[in-house]
Amino acid sequence: MKVYKDLSPSPRTIMTPGPVEVDPRVLRAMSFPILGQFDPEFTSIMNETMEMLRKLFVTENEWAFPVDGTSRSGIEAVLVSLIEPGDKVLVPIYGRFGHLLTEIAQRCGAEVVTIEKEWGFVFDKEELVAAIRTHRPKLVAIVHGETSTGRMQSLEGIGQVCRDLDALLVVDAVATIGGVALETDRLLLDAVIGGTQKCLSVPAGMSPITYNSRAAAKIAKRKKIERGLLTGGEEESLLRPVQSNYFDLSMLQDYWSSARLNHHTEATSMLYALREGLRLVLEEGLEQRQARHKAHEAALVAGVQAMDLRLYGDASCKMPVVTCIEIPEGIDGESVRNLLLQDFGIEIASSFGVLKGKIWRIGTMGYSCSKRNVLLTLGALEAALLRHGHKLEAGLAVQAALNTYA
Ligand SMILES: *Cc1c(COP(=O)(O)O)cnc(C)c1O
Repeated sequence: MKVYKDLSPSPRTIMTPGPVEVDPRVLRAMSFPILGQFDPEFTSIMNETMEMLRKLFVTENEWAFPVDGTSRSGIEAVLVSLIEPGDKVLVPIYGRFGHLLTEIAQRCGAEVVTIEKEWGFVFDKEELVAAIRTHRPKLVAIVHGETSTGRMQSLEGIGQVCRDLDALLVVDAVATIGGVALETDRLLLDAVIGGTQKCLSVPAGMSPITYNSRAAAKIAKRKKIERGLLTGGEEESLLRPVQSNYFDLSMLQDYWSSARLNHHTEATSMLYALREGLRLVLEEGLEQRQARHKAHEAALVAGVQAMDLRLYGDASCKMPVVTCIEIPEGIDGESVRNLLLQDFGIEIASSFGVLKGKIWRIGTMGYSCSKRNVLLTLGALEAALLRHGHKLEAGLAVQAALNTYA
């Protein structure tokens, strides 16, 4: 009989843009006993999690809860619930995840219009405003932090334009939430999707979302249709039912509301994990946490530059939690990554599409975003580069990082 060995994952320093290392407090929370989903103790955990999510998203929205599934489950739930077949949807694309939004919106039956920016850059406000005015979409879906290129799109002023033109603004903040400032209400964002395995340092498996009353109004109208409750005078012909049960926000809402209408079985251990992850964020403080992410980014960047490596992309829109490095001419990027993983237990990321083999991506997110990890990564990367015949002055990188900490 074949014997399957005990599970014993190797210790790793995970410096990718997700998944990242998980705080031991979160891992411990995941090992607690299961509660039934209608046990008052459990429903109070659900309520507390909603309360903490409102703080994370900086919103007074009634609705803030996790969707069970990885981050794209949150994206799908929001898009399938807000897009009716035939709706015009605008997606400004500046990296891989803009293409994901496009694909999901298309599957929802939207008439999708895209505008594209060369990878490594983001849109000017004027370009976004012009596209919204020209195309008059019912919904705009945009990525806040593009992990594929390490760029961050400013959303200042976009919400007001969407509101003036009666479009809903949906933001993929999967990679930024909990690491970078994102004020849902001040920016007039109608729906925001977050992720767990990036700056929240919780395992993948849930996607926290929030949406406001404008989005909820659309959801409520569609629910009436499904239940045959629409009265005359409402634009019945324009409204169609949500093409999903699992991701229908009107049903998820009823499950998370005090009505507790049964839907799926809540992912108990994941909810424990998310609650603990959120408790850690709020204990640290949103601003302090953002400052920590910036401080370690600065040290990492100083070290990278001290090795004469070039940063990829437009520096003015660099995402603070992802640093993209151009792989030097003649160096096999995958071989360097293998050495880091096999000999140092450190994982950094490659990239996708046109950037495959061209850049490395180093994440400084959540629990992985620490002085220890940044210094170890720089030291190891320097050693790996030397072994690959890259010319550099040994020792400078770690010193440069230490200087920024001093
Ligand atoms: C990681 C990521 C996603 C997808 O997350 P999954 O958890 O893998 O589904 C979506 N958008 C952005 C910007 C991301 O960085």
